[in-house]
Amino acid sequence: MNGTCALCSVTAELIDSHFLPAALYKEMNDPAGPIKNMNAVTPKGTYQSGEQFHMPLLCQDCEIRFQQGGENRTLAMRYRSDGTYPLRELLRQSKSIYSNEGTSVYDAVAIADIKTDHLIYFAASIFWRAGVTSGLSL
Ligand SMILES: [Zn+2]
Repeated sequence: MNGTCALCSVTAELIDSHFLPAALYKEMNDPAGPIKNMNAVTPKGTYQSGEQFHMPLLCQDCEIRFQQGGENRTLAMRYRSDGTYPLRELLRQSKSIYSNEGTSVYDAVAIADIKTDHLIYFAASIFWRAGVTSGLSL
């Protein structure tokens, strides 16, 4: 589908962009995983959904920009339904700057393998997607 890219405003073939990366939906909607369905909050109400929110939103260049700017690195460090959690392991191997019963605080910028700029970029991209769309479809 041709249209105007929501990020760069170029008229181009639009990619069927997911609100959250497809890999996250796959794990979040795993019947055997810890999360069975996500909660969707819409103007029509709140409900649980096992579907993926997506719509034609970005051109190929902008989709790749989001992937390389933060999505790929963030997804590589995410919690997985098999119990692995690379980001947590990196933190556990590091010295906390503050700790009390049940809480530890880390200087993530000082941990070389944690690319905080990628984490921030990814988070900002999700907020941007939520704000720029008038409604993602199921
Ligand atoms: Zn674009």
